[in-house]
Amino acid sequence: MATEVNGRPREAFHRLLAPFVAFWCLLVPSTARPTPHHTIRIGIAGTNGAITKVKRLDVEKYLLGVLPQEMAPEWPIEALKAQAVVARTYAYSQLGRFGGQGFDLTSDTRSQVYKKPAAPAPLVRRAVTETAGEVLGWRGKLLGIYYHACCGGHTTSPNSAWGYTKPAPPPLRGVADRYCRHSPYAHWSSYVSAKDLLASLGHKRLLGATLRSFSIAAKDRAGYALWFKARIGGRTLRFAAYRVRQALGNALPSLRIMKIRRSKAGYEFFGEGLGHGVGLCQWGARGMADRGYRYEAILKHYFPGSVLSVVVN
Ligand SMILES: [Zn+2]
Repeated sequence: MATEVNGRPREAFHRLLAPFVAFWCLLVPSTARPTPHHTIRIGIAGTNGAITKVKRLDVEKYLLGVLPQEMAPEWPIEALKAQAVVARTYAYSQLGRFGGQGFDLTSDTRSQVYKKPAAPAPLVRRAVTETAGEVLGWRGKLLGIYYHACCGGHTTSPNSAWGYTKPAPPPLRGVADRYCRHSPYAHWSSYVSAKDLLASLGHKRLLGATLRSFSIAAKDRAGYALWFKARIGGRTLRFAAYRVRQALGNALPSLRIMKIRRSKAGYEFFGEGLGHGVGLCQWGARGMADRGYRYEAILKHYFPGSVLSVVVN
């Protein structure tokens, strides 16, 4: 999963995806299926983030080292195959991103996490080989790709999740999802102290002020908070919800917040889902796979209108 497998918040790189769609990639429908062997350059990051060496790898081999970091390797094969297509689409969309530094992707959370596998789990190998070369396209280009652990009932758009102003393409506008309801992240509650909440609002002059109330001012149609409203001292101010969540770190598992209740010296948030909520819901993919859906149907559900394609040059 994007978040819980390695315990690291995995949202930073997802924010960066859309601008890097590789415009030169020629896509054809996946039924044409040539055997693609494209090489990518991975900047291997040390523990402090510094790149220690650059490794050239076939994209398909690279995915063998990515998939186990992004989804539990014992999950159903069709969920793993959906994840393989999404991770491959991401890899192609990032070609040249760090070109000035001599590589395409990093091996850490700035891109997708890659670790050389000692021996890939059989299901991981199957998921990669049985989807070899397949990516998601839209209107002949690679789709800017996103994924998250659990949407809690509805996915959303990059506009809601990160305040993008450019309209999202139809495959990224959000869908209702009943397949992740058994996820351990389907419902959550989280306490945030008034002090931390004030600090997250990003105004130095608000520090030390009194937070008199905190509530949701606006939501999108998928139920994600777009704006919070805070009464501070004698003033009522609005704050972009995604910025507040970024500032609070893991304290708000998602922005699909159902209720906020004043509690002790702070506020209790009640919400659904884990992660930004855009694109593939991994727990939903698992739920669909458990019900017998194939990966093509899973991808169609979460990215309606996208076309399963292969990159040919
Ligand atoms: Zn979901």
